[in-house]
Amino acid sequence: MKCYLCGRTMNFFLNKNGYSIYRCNACKLMRTDLRENYEIFIRDQYSRGYFTGKQSCGAYIDYKDDKPMIARNMKKFIHEIKKHKSGGTLLDVGCAMGFFVEIALGAGFDAYGFDPSDFAVANAGKLNGHARVRRGAIHTVDYPKKSFDVITLFDVFEHLGDPRRDLKRLFSFLKDDGILVVATGNTESAMAKFLGRRWTFYIPPQHLFFYNRENLTRFLEEEHFMPIRWFGIGKWLSLRYVLHLGRTTGESAIAAILYRLFGRTSLGKFPLYLPLRDNMVVICKKNILA
Ligand SMILES: [Zn+2]
Repeated sequence: MKCYLCGRTMNFFLNKNGYSIYRCNACKLMRTDLRENYEIFIRDQYSRGYFTGKQSCGAYIDYKDDKPMIARNMKKFIHEIKKHKSGGTLLDVGCAMGFFVEIALGAGFDAYGFDPSDFAVANAGKLNGHARVRRGAIHTVDYPKKSFDVITLFDVFEHLGDPRRDLKRLFSFLKDDGILVVATGNTESAMAKFLGRRWTFYIPPQHLFFYNRENLTRFLEEEHFMPIRWFGIGKWLSLRYVLHLGRTTGESAIAAILYRLFGRTSLGKFPLYLPLRDNMVVICKKNILA
């Protein structure tokens, strides 16, 4: 396999959930070898089970019930965005059930979102009004050129099958003085290195690309985005979600036992703050001179 970013040779890195992840010798970008057709894959993948803890999905345990914690994490993002843009139009890419659209509306933004999941979009529409939310992927939705002040991708970038095509499209949706905000995992973080194959971000086939700060910078710059601020956040998660991650991507038998004991009890909703800092958040401006 050739590297999507730099074209050099990729070597086998690990196999998980029946999928192989390869790593570029030169730029260290990692990529899941997705054998099936990407269009069919996203249609099947982000069904109801993805948001309600179907074990094979290895994703959210109960996205709706864990809203207080998800919202708490998202408020940190809006706080950072406000330092650069106090208001205007905002587009949340991969908006899931629309929690961030709701928070952005509350913070004074004219906020919109889209998501490939029928199930998620139905919920997001109920929450924010159906005019604000659409079903689709970056390459299928359409918005007027240069119409957004802020475009956000929270835990979405690693899911994209052709991120270069998608960055070009988002560039066209963004106003010349707008900002793009991307939050994704960092393969060079201490936690990623410590956990190795058990790192929760290594979930093929949902996650298709795995970046570090260096190769993500290079990628954004090649697509005419200029990083202006980087930060990482700790996350609030419910106890049951932590155990769910442990039993699925963490491949932990102990977590599986604890999940069976506490997963469906009220104790499972207990909020935990995990200062893992295994993610990276980057705010970019458009480089319109390039
Ligand atoms: Zn490479």
